[in-house]
Amino acid sequence: MDHFLYRDGALYAEDVPLTEIAAAVGTPFYVYSTATLLRHFHLFDQALEGLDHLVCYAVKAASNQAILRTLAEAGAGMDVVSQGEYRRAKAAGVPGERIVFSGVGKTAEDIRVALSGGIRQFNVESEPELEVISAVAQELGVIAPITVRVNPDVDAKTHAKIATGKSENKFGIPIARAREVYARAAKLPGIDVIGIDVHIGSQLTQLEPFEMAYHKVAELTELLRADGHNIRRLDLGGGLGIPYARSNEAPPLPSDYGALVRRTLGHLGCEIEIEPGRLVVGNAGLLVSEVIYVKHGEGRDFLIVDAAMNDLIRPAMYEAHHDIVPVIEPAPAVELAPIDVVGPICETGDTFARQRPMPPLAAGDLIAFRSAGAYGAVMSSEYNSRLLIPEVMVKGDQFAVIRRRPTFDEMINRDTIPEWL
Ligand SMILES: *Cc1c(COP(=O)(O)O)cnc(C)c1O
Repeated sequence: MDHFLYRDGALYAEDVPLTEIAAAVGTPFYVYSTATLLRHFHLFDQALEGLDHLVCYAVKAASNQAILRTLAEAGAGMDVVSQGEYRRAKAAGVPGERIVFSGVGKTAEDIRVALSGGIRQFNVESEPELEVISAVAQELGVIAPITVRVNPDVDAKTHAKIATGKSENKFGIPIARAREVYARAAKLPGIDVIGIDVHIGSQLTQLEPFEMAYHKVAELTELLRADGHNIRRLDLGGGLGIPYARSNEAPPLPSDYGALVRRTLGHLGCEIEIEPGRLVVGNAGLLVSEVIYVKHGEGRDFLIVDAAMNDLIRPAMYEAHHDIVPVIEPAPAVELAPIDVVGPICETGDTFARQRPMPPLAAGDLIAFRSAGAYGAVMSSEYNSRLLIPEVMVKGDQFAVIRRRPTFDEMINRDTIPEWL
């Protein structure tokens, strides 16, 4: 459920017509609904009610300061995967003890910054990383709380580029080697082994892979406890999918997921952490774009819009589907005709949808890509020297630009011409 609905024939974000935002900021732009964002965060929070838990929003899904501040004020922790994200979370007001640091390639400097600024835990992905954390912690005279990310060798049944829980993926430590690695970690100075971490992938549309992974985590918890480790926190990662096409069957709800967590891990008495990104922010954002041309090709028509793959790369990168709707509601009886929705970039990959049934549209009309809140703005680039597009946040009848469109001079002047030229 989201808060982007037609009202009197026009698409609104909460109580603001998208046409009004387009007139104020120009197209293309991202727009987020505060109500949807909070709704989805609270769904997770409620799903784990009764368990000692913290929902750590995965910052990489959408990392604007206004989004982070909104979630932080609602009580969210944050999962970060880089020093930049750590700094963003801190800047948005998230205390260090609510920030979890994940990622396979943390540098000594990343670790130093997080240990100095405060950190809830590092989710460690390799033995060499353990050594570096131990060394940096000793250098700073602090104790680093850690979990080890285990790779449960479970097929997440999602797109290959976002599956992370198979043994051939670069993530985590093979679960079969976990006891050995925990034994080593426990001997290292400057490290406090507090729990286990697992994250098997993104856009999961079934609960079964989670269930298989969490059973393995439960087993491992008992084994490690028997080995003398004080396992008291389980980080279960993110990954619950969202319905990108309204026609598709719906992925499991956070409440079903919460019941699964309780069933598989509830008896262990551990603090539970989850790291949802997509499900919190995915349906809370739209990408709004204007039609530049309608082009009639040989046996095929093209809707050429002013957004492109540099603004929203998911279709090009993951063959992802986004529902595309006109901002002005078509008449109920209007006939849909198939059309390719494409951006202006000089690559065939710059195609948002092929032969998509759409109502008749003309140059100047606005369209909205739904479910564009997660892995949208954060993955954008300036390819083709196209400016990064603005982000707007709506709350009730108010809206604010939360990242402005840069000027062309700002973009060009980041380059430096060497003195010899
Ligand atoms: C990407 C990622 C997440 C968030 O995944 P979603 O599918 O957006 O919920 C959580 N944890 C880790 C370690 C990740 O890499």
